[in-house]
Amino acid sequence: MERYYQPEIEKAPRETIVKLQNERLVNTVKRVYENVSHYRKKMDESGIKPEDIKSIDDLYKLPFSYKQDLRDTYPYGMFAVPMKDVVRLHASSGTTGKQIVVGYTENDLDLWSDCCARALTAAGCTEEDKVHVSYGYGLFTGGLGADAGSKKVGAVTIPVSSGNTQRQITILRDFGSTILCCTPSYALHMAETLYAQGYTKDDINLKAGIFGAEPWTNEMRQQIEEMLGIKAYDIYGLTEIIGPGVGFECSEQSGMHINEDHFIVEVIDPDTGEVLPDGTQGELVFTCITKEAFPIIRYRTRDIGVITREKCSCGRTLVKMTKPRGRTDDMLIIRGVNVFPSQIESVLIEKGYTANYQIVVDRENNFDSIEVRVELSPENFRDTIKGLDKQAKELSEALKVVLGLNAHVKLMEPNSIPRSEGKAVRVIDKRKLLD
Ligand code: ADP
Ligand code: ZN
Repeated sequence: MERYYQPEIEKAPRETIVKLQNERLVNTVKRVYENVSHYRKKMDESGIKPEDIKSIDDLYKLPFSYKQDLRDTYPYGMFAVPMKDVVRLHASSGTTGKQIVVGYTENDLDLWSDCCARALTAAGCTEEDKVHVSYGYGLFTGGLGADAGSKKVGAVTIPVSSGNTQRQITILRDFGSTILCCTPSYALHMAETLYAQGYTKDDINLKAGIFGAEPWTNEMRQQIEEMLGIKAYDIYGLTEIIGPGVGFECSEQSGMHINEDHFIVEVIDPDTGEVLPDGTQGELVFTCITKEAFPIIRYRTRDIGVITREKCSCGRTLVKMTKPRGRTDDMLIIRGVNVFPSQIESVLIEKGYTANYQIVVDRENNFDSIEVRVELSPENFRDTIKGLDKQAKELSEALKVVLGLNAHVKLMEPNSIPRSEGKAVRVIDKRKLLD
């Protein structure tokens, strides 16, 4: 049976959501124009007055916000309330450069926990559950976000935070955790550690996992689901918008419902900035319409995805986004060919490897090279040199079909690729050092 945390919103007719969005957008634009000099300046420069924004149909008129704006106004320049009303700060994990800071009022924290509670509930979480949070607690939004959602649902929260994987396994077993929250790469690492200690999925009590903060493929989902004996749900979010819980997966497991009563999504052409119709792939852009401390307008996420309003079998009417394909920053251009790490991940898992891999890109004499390093399973590792050569060749051919270019495959010893406790580092681009 499908569960909802706030069915009145999650299953609301489209008109109800649009009405909410219209009112909230108009208010937010007025508020940022009055309180944040950054927005006032940008809107004045583009000749837009708050009165010009009458409904969500006018959203496209507003200027975009970029990560650079947060850096230029670092630390507090884009806050829309006085510091006395701010009760929490978070910072992005800094995957792609200097960290940025965002703030929350008490109300912001409350609506954020509602968003996470919707995600947990959609994954089957009730007050009977024990939610094991292995996202890092701290400035990173993952840990405290999942924690607050679990508290709202009334489940038992186990705030393990990240790291010390052996201890995570002991806690999973002894405390009987039923729902796991962490990055998908860390979930896989926990699963491997479980088996390495001589246990299997039958020795733990998990029924579901909520994994996000980094891109992962459906192939990786299957691998995690099989190893841990769970259903694995995706969750999407980013610090600039609020943290985890911007979008969450339901029982259909085919994309994430966006919490549209709080965040308006648009998909745009990243080159022209033009808004694209539903069903077209482009850059995801979000506008916060309920946040008080940090209501960002038309934020360019650099994440590539597609949105759809097709009816979902779970009964939710909230718009859905596909699993983001990755950030435009993650897209590698190799000899003029666009390559996303997720394409490589799909091939590796289809061919029976685990999702422990790294991609090394280099340039010699103006020629880009790509090497895919992937671990062998302990059984395959004992293969003959000839057998291993054959495996590498087969994998290289499979990659060529998907990527359209030759990749050098390097088969690695089991456990030789560094594991991550948070976001996995998939790409080592040595060309960046050359520039
Ligand atoms: P940083 O930008 O420093 O990594 P964040 O923790 O705010 O800090 O990361 C947000 C980014 O993480 C998103 O913009 C997106 O690229 C990625 N991300 C988050 N959740 C998912 C997900 N479920 N699938 C794919 N990518 C995700
Ligand atoms: Zn659904």
